[in-house]
Amino acid sequence: MENKRPIGIIGAMGVEVRALLDAMEETGQERFAGLVFHVGSLSGAPCVIAQCGEGKVNAAVCAQTMILQYAPRLVINVGVAGGVGLNIGDLVVASACVQHDFDATPMGYPLGNLFLYRDEGEPEQRIELPADGAAAALLLEEAQAIYGGAYSGIVATGDQFVADKAKNQWLHETFGAKAVEMEGGSIAQVCYMNRTPFAVLRAISDNADGGSPVDFPAFTQECAAKTARLLTQALGRL
Ligand code: SAH
Repeated sequence: MENKRPIGIIGAMGVEVRALLDAMEETGQERFAGLVFHVGSLSGAPCVIAQCGEGKVNAAVCAQTMILQYAPRLVINVGVAGGVGLNIGDLVVASACVQHDFDATPMGYPLGNLFLYRDEGEPEQRIELPADGAAAALLLEEAQAIYGGAYSGIVATGDQFVADKAKNQWLHETFGAKAVEMEGGSIAQVCYMNRTPFAVLRAISDNADGGSPVDFPAFTQECAAKTARLLTQALGRL
């Protein structure tokens, strides 16, 4: 039955999934590729939660394994991100994800242009991978009450921690990004290829411009607690 399929939740760092694991009723766990998949429920809604590790490859391995092993009906990526024109403490719910470091421009392709072999024949070319509209809308609505500012927008992903004013501005101008991080766009691509709906929730932990004053670990923990609250409330409605 469709609604018995779990919702998958992936966070890169331990601190990003710990509060969710504490809130979940765990019925079992399995290990694949060194990653631990916690199976159970959150507020009665079946879910599987995993920590993938930082970066695009770790995130892709986790998302693909989760899809093959648990057939989630929705994958939600949670975590922190650098803000592009936003304030620390705000939340971005992805409308779509891009991979800002995917660069075949010398071959004449626009920056971030992905080659997607989901269907037969020539690969589909896309820069933006759209998140599930209904899930994003519901998560945004729930988030308004918990976060100072909750916004829908483009999440830009790459295998680099961005802490540079010029790069931050470039992310805004090139992709219209609101947040920059290291996993969302990779999970989005895996989900797109598998026709699995996805959502990305990112709390802004730093300004991604070299002038981040916050204590990153402490702040991430605070954000994770809020995300756990948000998902505990929202999961039953998704
Ligand atoms: N665990 C290590 C490394 C963290 S890398 C540590 O804490 O020191 C940064 C992580 O936070 C990634 O998972 C990334 O998705 C997210 N992130 C937060 N701010 C970011 C930024 N400005 N640029 C890129 N990723 C960022």
